[in-house]
Order: sequence, then C-alpha cells, then structure tokens
Amino acid sequence: MTEHIAFIGLGNMGGPMAVNLGKAGFPVVATDLSASARDSVATHGIRVVATAAEAVTGAGVVISMLPASRHVESLYLGDGSAANPGLLASLPAGTRVIDCSTIAPASARKVAVAAQARGLSMIDAPVSGGTAGAAAATLTFMVGGEPACVDAARPLLAAMGRNIFHAGASGAGQVAKVCNNMLLAIHMIGTAEALNLGVANGMDPAVLSEIMKQSSGDNWSLQKYNPMPGVMDGVPASRGYSGGFGSDLMLKDLGLAEEAALAAGAAIPLGGLARQLYAVHSASGQGGADFSSILRLLQRAG
Ligand code: NAD
Repeated sequence: MTEHIAFIGLGNMGGPMAVNLGKAGFPVVATDLSASARDSVATHGIRVVATAAEAVTGAGVVISMLPASRHVESLYLGDGSAANPGLLASLPAGTRVIDCSTIAPASARKVAVAAQARGLSMIDAPVSGGTAGAAAATLTFMVGGEPACVDAARPLLAAMGRNIFHAGASGAGQVAKVCNNMLLAIHMIGTAEALNLGVANGMDPAVLSEIMKQSSGDNWSLQKYNPMPGVMDGVPASRGYSGGFGSDLMLKDLGLAEEAALAAGAAIPLGGLARQLYAVHSASGQGGADFSSILRLLQRAG
C-alpha cells in the first residue's frame, strides 16, 4: 500500500494547501477538529477522517498547519495525560514531519528534538503569501532543519508553493517568519496611517494609493493588500475584512517577535509598538477580522 500524507489543520491556509497537494497527485488523508473545515476539503476529493490518530495511520509524511505553539506542542508531544500522549509516541521511525504553522522558534526546536529522539525527522516550514497564495499554490516556505530532510520535503512543498528557502538549522524557518511578519505589521500600520491621513485631508484613497505606489512609500501592503475598503478588488478590506489573516494571528506573531527579541537582546521598538496596537485592536473585538482592519483603529482614533 502506498504511504499517504497526513494533513492536520484545514483552516484558512491548511485547507487550500491540502487540496493543492491532492491536485498534484499526492495521496492525502486530512483532518481538523472542526467539521466545517473537514467538509471544505472533502468536496475537493480529499479523503477526510475525524481524528489525527486515524490520519497518521500508514502515513509516510505528516504535515500540520495549526494556529499556535500550544496547538503544535499538544498535537505532537501530548499534554501529559494518558488521553493525549502526543502523535510522536505512535509514529513509526522514519516518518517525516513537516510543521507549516507559525510558532515560536523554541517550540519548533523542542518538537524537532523530541522527534529526532524517536527516530523521526521534523522540519519547520512556515509560510508567507496569505490565503491567496495558499489557494494559488504560490506560497513562500521558510524552512529550518537538516539539509537532507529539507531536500526530501521539496517536492511536497513545491506542490503548495513557489519559493522554498532553506533558512538554516531547526527553528530558523520560524525566525525568518517572525522577522517577516513583524515587518509586515509595521508596513501595514504605516500604510493604513498614511491612507487615513490622506482621506482625513480630503484625498481620494485610490488616487493616493496610486501616487504612493509610484513613489518612495511603495510597499507590499499598498501593492497587494490595500487596507482601505473599495480601493482594491479581492482583498479582505473590500469584503468587510473577512477571511485573510486574522488580527489575533498577527498579534500572536508580534508576541513571538517580542519573545525572540528578548531572548537575543535585540531592539524592536516599532515591532513592540505594533504589538500594542494589535492588542488594543483585538481587545476592541476585531481579533477575528483580517489584520488590515487595523485601519479601523485609526479611524476610531480620528
Ligand atoms: P485557522 O485558524 O484558519 O486554521 C487553523 C485550523 O487548525 C482550524 O481549522 C482548527 O480547527 C485546526 N486545529 C487546531 N488544533 C487542531 C488539532 N489539534 N487537530 C486538528 N486541527 C486542529 O488558521 P490559518 O489562518 O489557517 O493559519 C494557520 C497557521 O498559518 C497559523 O500559525 C498562522 O499564523 C499561519 N499563517 C496564516 C496566514 C494567513 O494569511 N491566514 C498566512 C501565513 C501563515
């Protein structure tokens, strides 16, 4: 029997990623705690099961795409109870684990060390590119781990993404991801602030966006993810900030940046301020809205 790929976590990102693996011809058995997430991939011909234990039975590779460190640690290492011993305890030696979630570098290293002790290999492979990149299989993977394990994962990652970077040893993929997302938060807040200032002074945000895209203020948020409703089609701002990358997830990533900065003694004044702004935004009930909704915080303040 051919070994399949177990895919665990079928949310905004994991769902389309699992579907793309299936489209590329890989046999996928997928699962999620949420029935609606499971249903979203079942309609695309992916075999869906109710539990992670069922999904990994007979799998050669396990891919996870979960919200945060605690979910990943609980899945693989368990919670110390007999009811949840963690998946690593039951995977046969030689199984390859690829975690694509954005989690703390220290958590990624902890799970990788535990995997290695059991004769398993594990790489961290967080992604950039958002839900559109997940759907179009154009994600960027930032991978940490042994070169041979990274090379073995390349054909699978190539079915879900366009760029695969080997960032370094275990945890390095997460370090790269945390740095990237801190910068993303900073330029999204800056872009929202500039657009809000322009609108408050009577400018058309579409005209202002075009001017800044051809000027020194140009950046990814302006080009691909304009936070002002109605300026760009197909982005969360133009559908009430639904879908996309939740503000709570951005807040989590900025917390990871602060932890990494504290651990290394690095100064991140703007990253720290960005985390405070997203904390206020989430506390005001916007945690589930896409992170570009940070514009609303400025509009309220105005
Ligand atoms: P999501 O909340 O939409 O999906 C996470 C899924 O994991 C949920 O469906 C949840 O039910 C499931 N889950 C949680 N614990 C589980 C378990 N033990 N077993 C099975 N399923 C479980 O999140 P998302 O937007 O898909 O993001 C996933 C990860 O990717 C996060 O770490 C996020 O930071 C990162 N990320 C997201 C984006 C984005 O644009 N959404 C972009 C890049 C990276």
